[in-house]
Order: sequence, then C-alpha cells, then structure tokens
Amino acid sequence: MYKDIIKQMEKYAEEENIPIMEKRGIDFLCKFIEKNNIKSILELGTAIGYSSIRMALVSDDIKITSVERNQDRYMMALKNIKACDLDKRITLICGDALDIDITEKYDLIFIDAAKAQNINFFNKYKNNLNKYGVIVTDNISFHGFVESKEEIENKNLRGLVMKIRDYIEFLKNHDEYETKFYKVGDGIAITYKKDEINE
Ligand code: SAH
Ligand code: MG
Repeated sequence: MYKDIIKQMEKYAEEENIPIMEKRGIDFLCKFIEKNNIKSILELGTAIGYSSIRMALVSDDIKITSVERNQDRYMMALKNIKACDLDKRITLICGDALDIDITEKYDLIFIDAAKAQNINFFNKYKNNLNKYGVIVTDNISFHGFVESKEEIENKNLRGLVMKIRDYIEFLKNHDEYETKFYKVGDGIAITYKKDEINE
C-alpha cells in the first residue's frame, strides 16, 4: 500500500516539478539512517512529504518533525502522511524555518529547503543536534552546475550556484565540523562534529 502512494508521489512531483529527492539519494539517506540507528529527525523543506515518508518507513521507532513554508505543499504533505498512516510519527510545521524556534534535539537534521539559505539553516539549527548527531544537506551538486566550470547564463541560477559553492567552502573550512561529500543523487553532504568523531 505504501508502495503505491510513494509511486503516486514520485509521479506527481515529476509532473508538477516539485524537487523531491532523487531516488538514489533518498535510498542512500535511508541506508545511512538504518546503519547509524537514527531515531529522531528534523527536516527543513517537506514539500509534499516524500522524503519524510521514506525516512519514517526505515523503522517503526523513528520520529520526524518537518518544516514547510508553502501552505499548499504543507496541506498535500499532511494528506500523504495520513494516507500512509504515519501522522503519529511525522509532525509537520507550516512556517518559515528561519523564523520559527525549535528547542528539541535530533539525531539527524536534514537541510533540503531554499538552497541559498543553507549557511543560515546550518547556523540556526546546529545546536539542535543530539550528541553524535549529524547534519545532512541535499542538492550539493545542483544538477551538476556546482561542479561545472562553464559560465552560467541565467542570473538567478548563477546566484544560487554561487551560494551552494559558498556553503561547500563554509563546510570545508569549518573549525568544529567535518563534512563528507557524496556524489549520489543530486549530491549529499554529511556533517559531523569534529570533537565527537574519535571519542
Ligand atoms: N525534502 C523534500 C523536498 C523539499 S523541496 C523531499 O525530498 O521530498 C524544498 C522545499 O523547501 C520546498 O517545498 C519549499 O517550499 C521549502 N522551503 C524553502 N525555503 C523554506 C524555508 N525557509 N522554510 C521552510 N520551507 C522552505
Ligand atoms: Mg533536495
């Protein structure tokens, strides 16, 4: 039953140009969640609930809070989550992730909202990590534009790609955090706290 709903969501996202995670990317993230025994997740950028649902289905004891600022998508995500009977384990917040305040701590924070704001999301939420918690960021490659040496004609796209490059530099040069970059899906970064790595 879940499988049909997930297929429908993939189809809908494709038709309506909703940037849900790429299949290989979400498969990779789900494996990471399973292997590392992640039980609590904060997601920034729900869209229609696709990645939330996929992550929640990894294990019955995973709890997710997810934030979406677009009202229509939030409503659609609510509906999809209910259809999968996951509304007890996935809590949705309709609002701008940069405006709201969350005090709870999580094993994993998944940044997948407005790409130009990644540094702000990181700084705002880094203290919401549990010990040994990680920050995962999607779309580090942005359809290959981030690695591309070619001049990007479109001004908005160029600006966005520059922001993602800035974020990558920010992660690479961070004193307190260590990041691994994976060329899977649309590019995924996993960030660890340095002083928690070799304990
Ligand atoms: N994680 C989803 C895809 C998210 S797409 C999945 O893989 O299934 C990115 C979403 O982030 C969009 O729906 C957009 O409306 C939302 N978004 C962008 N900036 C945001 C912000 N500041 N706060 C909350 N949501 C935001
Ligand atoms: Mg994404």
